[in-house]
Amino acid sequence: MIAIYPGSFDPITNGHLDIAERSAKLFDKLIIGVFEAPQGKRLLFTTAERVKLARLATAKIPNIEVKSFSTLTVDFARKVGAGVMVRGLRANSDFEWEFEMALMNQKLSPNLEFVCLMANQKFQFVSASLLKEVASLGANIDELVPGGVVSALKQKFGK
Ligand code: ADP
Repeated sequence: MIAIYPGSFDPITNGHLDIAERSAKLFDKLIIGVFEAPQGKRLLFTTAERVKLARLATAKIPNIEVKSFSTLTVDFARKVGAGVMVRGLRANSDFEWEFEMALMNQKLSPNLEFVCLMANQKFQFVSASLLKEVASLGANIDELVPGGVVSALKQKFGK
């Protein structure tokens, strides 16, 4: 079974990576789908950069692939032959939105299953947006993002 893990990944964090690694153990293949233009989000990294950082972080896991997409997520799933969509759930913040989106996707593509993995306790508080904010002010985020992302953020913020 092929699964997709869609998101903006701006940039990929250790929280995302934890979900990706655990999903790769559950499915034959996991495709991380980097959404090109998420609505209402101001992106720090270009699509090419987000894909590159996600590839770098998952390079050692043979059944993970990273692709970008700009269509409806259910159409991307269909195109790559995925039967499952994976998402990560953090306490408090994610449930309502994920639930609503899962129901909409179910309506749009009844054969696509939706699986949520609970975020690792260590990364419950990690969100890409908060990370960017503290990194821009010079915070040390080495334990929260993959190595490649640490240097990419330093470069973006000129630190
Ligand atoms: P965000 O919601 O932080 O902008 P994305 O759109 O890239 O991030 O999220 C992709 C998926 O990863 C979503 O299902 C989101 O809930 C999940 N996710 C985000 N951060 C974490 C984390 N720290 N631990 C587990 N899952 C996460």
